[in-house]
Formats: sequence, structure tokens, C-alpha cells
Amino acid sequence: MRGVSGGAGEFGHVVLDPDGPPCRCGNRGCIEVYASFRGPLEEAERHFGRSLRITDVAEMAIAGDPFCIELVQRAGSIGGHGLGIIGSVLNPPLVVVSGRLAMTGDILIAPLAESFERHTLIKRADVPEATRTIIRASQFTDNGACIGAVGLVLRHHGQLN
Ligand SMILES: [Zn+2]
Repeated sequence: MRGVSGGAGEFGHVVLDPDGPPCRCGNRGCIEVYASFRGPLEEAERHFGRSLRITDVAEMAIAGDPFCIELVQRAGSIGGHGLGIIGSVLNPPLVVVSGRLAMTGDILIAPLAESFERHTLIKRADVPEATRTIIRASQFTDNGACIGAVGLVLRHHGQLN
């Protein structure tokens, strides 16, 4: 599905809060505004008194820093809210979460999956295990979207099942 004007699949611009912060698309409170991690990075910079990258926060969360763990968990919860809406529309068999925060594994995925469950239509307890949406962290942190695009082309041309 590409959409009549090529705009299908822009899940990052599903509005979670119409009174939320402005998004680069012109709307307010889009998933992308929260999932971009811009705000949490600013919080981390104020907390630690120095500039940090997403990778720094992810590595500090993995090392056990409670402030960074909280930031990653909150991002997971917000991302899961948005994915829950998308889950209600698509009921996908698998959601692969990519990006640099995905390297934190369950620090991100556990609150994300819990929030997904809370906000999506089909609840895990209501369906057999084989028909539940699986949520996993990508193994690829920097080029996951590119690899996914290649997979889409290969599948379209019958080179991949
Ligand atoms: Zn937007």
C-alpha cells in the first residue's frame, strides 16, 4: 500500500496528543516527536551537564544508570502507545523495533510491549499464542531500515519468502 498520494505508512505522524509539542510535519504531538528521543536527550544533558548522543544514553542504560534506564523505558512506553494504535489497524504478526535505543533490548522492549498490549485492540489473552503479535528488537541498529527496504524489493520480485 502506497496511498493515493504516496503518504501511506507514515506511522511516525499518527497524532498521540493534539496539544503536544509541534512536529516537523506541521501537526502537534505526533509519535515521531516523542519517539525521536530529542526531548529525553535534552533532559539527559541537563541531568549530566554535558552533551550526549542516543548511543551514550543507551550504553549508560545498559550499564545500569537509573536515569538513563528511566529515559529509555519512558520512550518504550510512548513508542508502545503509538505501536498499539498501529497494531489495531494492521494486527501484524511481528514488530521489529530498530534504531539505536533497540540496542538496550528489554530495557526498551519490555515497557514498549506492555504499552502496546494496553493500547492495541487484540489482547494477548484473547488469542492463541500462534496469532499473537511478537515484538522484538532489531539486530541492526544503524541500517535496519535499509535492510528492510532491500528485503521488501527481494520479496516483491519473488527472491525472498
Ligand atoms: Zn508529524
